[in-house]
Amino acid sequence: MRGNLETIVGAMFAGKTSELLKRILWAKHQNKKIIVIKPSIDNRYSSQKIITHNDLSHECFAMINWKETLEHFSFKKDNTDVVFLDEIQFMDTNETLSNIEKILNEGIDVVCAGLDQDSRGRPWETSSMVLGLSDKILKIYGFCNVCGMEATKTYRKTEGGDRTQVGAANIYEPRCLKHWEPR
Ligand SMILES: [Zn+2]
Repeated sequence: MRGNLETIVGAMFAGKTSELLKRILWAKHQNKKIIVIKPSIDNRYSSQKIITHNDLSHECFAMINWKETLEHFSFKKDNTDVVFLDEIQFMDTNETLSNIEKILNEGIDVVCAGLDQDSRGRPWETSSMVLGLSDKILKIYGFCNVCGMEATKTYRKTEGGDRTQVGAANIYEPRCLKHWEPR
């Protein structure tokens, strides 16, 4: 049977990594064989762990690209039950799509987490495509830093900079539509 693909998306500080971690801990509790991967670009806290903003963590493989990742893991049903991918917006779109498809066809479940939009409000390509492939989608929300209402957007506190700029609370914060502007 084909594996199940679940994707968790939202703005920064919505709690995506916490949701992913909950599923990781549940899978471990069930003695499932798991692989946890995040792109090595995300080194804001640690290159070997996925870490939530409230400091919960789990070891992970820091991905440079899919080619190198496939040299480390064979992704076969007899050695893997679930693959967890964090920060999918930073992974190559086409390679991520085709490798998730291969993993699912092995009968392995995949759980992804990532940003759906950048701070300019534009969809991230890889997240968008993975959402389109997903069997199950969870969109989660943060709280606007100005008014405390539901936040669907990531607001960049400083102007300019690269789209893939990785940063925590010093650069970005969650905002509602009323208090957000693209920058
Ligand atoms: Zn607001």
